[in-house]
Amino acid sequence: MISVILWKWRCHSYPDNPELICPKQIRIMKALVYHGPGKKSWEEKEKPVIQKATDAIVRITKTTICGTDLHILKGDVPEVTDGRTLGHEGVGIIEEAGEFVTKFKKGDHVLISCITSCAVCDYCRKGMYSHCENGGWILGHLIDGTQAEYVRIPYADTSMYKIPENSDEEALVMLSDILPTGYECGVLNSQISPGDTVAIVGAGPVGLAALLTAQFYSPSLVIMIDPDDNRLAVARKMGATHTINNRNEMAVEKVFKLTDNKGVDAVIEAVGIPATFELCQSLVAPGGRIANVGVHGKSVELHLETLWAKNIAITTRLVDTISTSMLMKTVQSGKLNSKQLITHRFKLSEIIRAYDCFEQAAKEKTLKVILSND
Ligand SMILES: [Zn+2]
Ligand SMILES: [Zn+2]
Repeated sequence: MISVILWKWRCHSYPDNPELICPKQIRIMKALVYHGPGKKSWEEKEKPVIQKATDAIVRITKTTICGTDLHILKGDVPEVTDGRTLGHEGVGIIEEAGEFVTKFKKGDHVLISCITSCAVCDYCRKGMYSHCENGGWILGHLIDGTQAEYVRIPYADTSMYKIPENSDEEALVMLSDILPTGYECGVLNSQISPGDTVAIVGAGPVGLAALLTAQFYSPSLVIMIDPDDNRLAVARKMGATHTINNRNEMAVEKVFKLTDNKGVDAVIEAVGIPATFELCQSLVAPGGRIANVGVHGKSVELHLETLWAKNIAITTRLVDTISTSMLMKTVQSGKLNSKQLITHRFKLSEIIRAYDCFEQAAKEKTLKVILSND
């Protein structure tokens, strides 16, 4: 402490002394900082430090931008306060590990989970890390996130994964959030079995992640519904058996035609607006499941007058990231090509331009962007 004060004093006293390396300068990094609705900047910020012995500091090597970050910037997530570094996805190298961190050491290559898990609270012990009483979704939300040169990860042992040697970092960035989200909230919750018919409403990155992982279970039909022809073309390449542009086609009629007038066994909602949730209710077959993935900001109408006797189930979920290790193995073995979701690459310092590209998704044909901190 005394030495820090002394250094601060010396830095202050001799700002022009080139001989003197000011620790304050060593402690400065760049980060994408939220300053209230519509305001963000790439600016200098103090580097994070270990606060608890279970923390680790990670030097980010690659990160990305999520649709949730755009929700935050619109002001939809009021818990995010002025000054918060955004981002909850990324891979990096351990810069420093706290005293109680046992799984990782300085220099280890790690995948950061968007969900922080303490591993000991009631929810964690049930495998519901999303609702961890000491973590959950806190990165880039309640604590500073990954769109920065360095990030502090609490409960490092149980909130990160060691990256095997010779792995493709870009492919693994997709495993921080969107692959587990599409898989757990969409595919697992809709209980897709071999031969099932599936409809996915929304062909954004998470809808496409659901499409990729739905194929683990060999459904007979996967119908992708979206108003963007480019995204539908991508969906066909990724394995959709049919696509419907619901801007100019009658989605319900077409789905019923494809399914002998039954509707589909599994419907995944990956948009988060009332119209798409209503569409899902019209598509579900008797005995079917509607799995909501979308982040909703408005209430939706529930049509129990038609659904009450249909033996259906509706599920909601915040990703628990219980599937991350499994997904990592499928990526490593080449069974799952998560890299297909990446359309644009930028340097981390070009993040403002990357946000523009991500916001103009239809025009720029953007799915996921990769930001590299070289
Ligand atoms: Zn996200
Ligand atoms: Zn917990």
